[in-house]
Amino acid sequence: MKLYLVPTPIGNLDDITLRAIKVLQSVDAILAEDTRTSGVLLRHLTISKPLHSYHIFNEHQTVQRLVNQLKEGKTLALVSDAGTPGISDPGFLLVRECIKNEIPVECLPGPTAFVPALVNSGLPNDRFTFEGFLPHKKGRQTRLSELAGEERTMVFYESPHRLLKTLQQFADLFGSDRPASVSRELTKMFEETQRGSLSELIAYFAQKTIKGEIVICVQGRKGGKGKDAGKAFENEDDDDE
Ligand code: SAM
Repeated sequence: MKLYLVPTPIGNLDDITLRAIKVLQSVDAILAEDTRTSGVLLRHLTISKPLHSYHIFNEHQTVQRLVNQLKEGKTLALVSDAGTPGISDPGFLLVRECIKNEIPVECLPGPTAFVPALVNSGLPNDRFTFEGFLPHKKGRQTRLSELAGEERTMVFYESPHRLLKTLQQFADLFGSDRPASVSRELTKMFEETQRGSLSELIAYFAQKTIKGEIVICVQGRKGGKGKDAGKAFENEDDDDE
């Protein structure tokens, strides 16, 4: 009886760990965010196991059934399409339910996008805050306002078509000279990390067709919360679109 959370590569298939392979070979079944995507990886690793769907749309309904299987003595592995399950991906509900039911849970260390992006950024990483995806509409301005006085380096996941809009909002909120970085396609053939002020990053990406997967890092505010922290958006509605 055990639930493993198994990180999978975020691009380069060589980033699978030896232990991840051993665990995937040993479990009774694998729960996958997308069975086709994980099927490709499992075939590459020549691992043949029952593969079940576990994604954001069926997470609530399937958790109890999975807890029952685990209580019957099964060992399951949860994988997401890429990176570490539970990090901006399904997993939290199942982990919480397992802990409630005293089912052992083990998350293997392994690939995740925010760690290499943060370290590559060259921004302070002794303390940082992982913000994942900002809300697209409702709650976006509130969340941004909350970050106005943040002193730690902030890490965001973003999609390519929203990158420029988000960088512009960051420039309005944090100031256009705030140091930041954009990491794109980590571990893949066209990996790049651009570093500079927010205005430099906007100028760079405004000239490009932006493709691929993206992590943005923004340095925190220096010198503590000022009296103006959060003012940039205080009169704006939550629904910006
Ligand atoms: N569970 C994953 C992890 O551990 O990083 C994150 C999954 S989340 C649904 C997908 C987002 O992660 C992408 O939109 C992007 O922001 C980021 N991401 C994933 N792979 C990436 C890569 N190779 N390069 C840059 N960002 C990546």
